Amino acid sequence: MQIVLSQEELSEGISRLARCIRDDLGRQPVTVVGVLTGSIVLVADLIRSLDGPVRVGMVWASSYRGTATSPGRLDLRLDLLPDLTGQHVLVVDDIFDTGRTLEGLLAELHKRGAASVRSLVLLKKTGRAEVAIEPDYVGFEIPDRFVIGYGLDFDGGWRHLPYLAALDPDEIEAARCGHDLSGSVDAGRTAETP
Ligand code: 5GP
Ligand code: MG
Repeated sequence: MQIVLSQEELSEGISRLARCIRDDLGRQPVTVVGVLTGSIVLVADLIRSLDGPVRVGMVWASSYRGTATSPGRLDLRLDLLPDLTGQHVLVVDDIFDTGRTLEGLLAELHKRGAASVRSLVLLKKTGRAEVAIEPDYVGFEIPDRFVIGYGLDFDGGWRHLPYLAALDPDEIEAARCGHDLSGSVDAGRTAETP
């Protein structure tokens, strides 16, 4: 696997995103709505970088199953959401690929009486969007490769890696067969700051 973003680069990206949010919202309270499960690490770091009042709610979304690396049907569960009436909502997801997850979620959240609804993704894959919407805040643009770590999984594993790494198709195949990939890290870089 190849490191796409180091711990330091991720940390700088989160600080930059937090500054952009506060530039737009000032000290107003923000309700961060994280998308389970991939956003857990990002939400934990982002809320600690956001000066000023913050609330946190979570929703669950999934369009992947097990070892598949391309999206299927979108499932949303919104029953964990707090009341959003009058809140400045910031939806936080790990990655914008086709954009279908964020599109589906924003459509639901716009029905909940929020004062404003913004969206943030840590990563956006180049040339993959299938929707008209754009996230309001993007941490990093990355090439179209399957990435893991910093909350993102492959078949439920790898979310705990403190950096972001890309898996090659042969590694995805090997992981499907149960091989351990943790020894094969290459430090080349492929991500850009937008
Ligand atoms: P979209 O709906 O934008 O096509 O996909 C967004 C969701 O797909 C993300 O929240 C994430 O769960 C998953 N996803 C998309 N690309 C990747 C990837 O490269 N790696 C991992 N682990 N998940 C991805
Ligand atoms: Mg997801």
